[in-house]
Amino acid sequence: MQLIESIAELRRARAALTGSVGFVPTMGALHRGHLELVHRAASEQQHVVASIFVNPTQFGANEDFARYPRDLARDLAALADTRVSLVFVPPVTEMYPADATTRIDVGPIAERLEGAHRPGHFTGVATVVAKLCHIVTPDALYLGQKDVQQTLVIRRMVRDLDLPVRVVVCPTVREPDGLALSSRNAYLSPAERALAPALFAALDAVARCFAAGEHDADTLRELIRQRLAASPALVVDYISVADPVALRELDGLVEHAVVSLAATIGRTRLIDNIVLGTP
Ligand code: AMP
Repeated sequence: MQLIESIAELRRARAALTGSVGFVPTMGALHRGHLELVHRAASEQQHVVASIFVNPTQFGANEDFARYPRDLARDLAALADTRVSLVFVPPVTEMYPADATTRIDVGPIAERLEGAHRPGHFTGVATVVAKLCHIVTPDALYLGQKDVQQTLVIRRMVRDLDLPVRVVVCPTVREPDGLALSSRNAYLSPAERALAPALFAALDAVARCFAAGEHDADTLRELIRQRLAASPALVVDYISVADPVALRELDGLVEHAVVSLAATIGRTRLIDNIVLGTP
């Protein structure tokens, strides 16, 4: 496994790889969710490239960029046990020269849900993923369902800009109690961590209701709201039952939907989602 910090060096090392390349972009503080993406890429492609880059442009001014967990030695040790060939760890100045001004705006899908609560977030995500794809030139990009809106924003960008890459979305990896793995879970105090499984429990309750025949969008949203209201320390940002392509809120009976939510526990903002029905 080769650790690479410059774009020029990454391009040279990439050119020397023959056969297909899968790419796993991350912000580090790696956990099993990230490693599942790497394993999936390794099972489908001849080479795997991973990146570790805490991308400043996707953080708002009052967000956690400065305190986001960083532990490169630990991340490299975790990746050393995988089939990753190249790990790209660029400094911020390498990705964003001081006079860089170009941004990718994916449109309305980037302004809903997470985008409404984190203005500019998906512009930062789309811009960095487009840059990384141009640098790495992978055949396939491996993303986690955990960040469902991110997967849809990137799918849209790849389609609209004709990027020659296939997007592969891998299932959300969870703790035994249902909490989706996230680098931000490290922020939770023991008391907050004990509350956090309530998010997935509410989504799971909706999945069971849907399976039992309750398909009304408002009723499903209300069920989550009531379940989360039982934990007053959990401050809900949004509860959404939306179409699985553009993430527009649905009304009436739904056959196929993304149910997503965001909530803050103490100072930590968590997101999760499930998909109802089949396309
Ligand atoms: P991040 O480092 O948080 O930017 O995430 C990098 C990639 O890992 C993204 O595609 C995430 O969706 C994915 N990811 C993060 N957490 C999980 C998880 N619990 N299960 C599956 N994929 C995940």
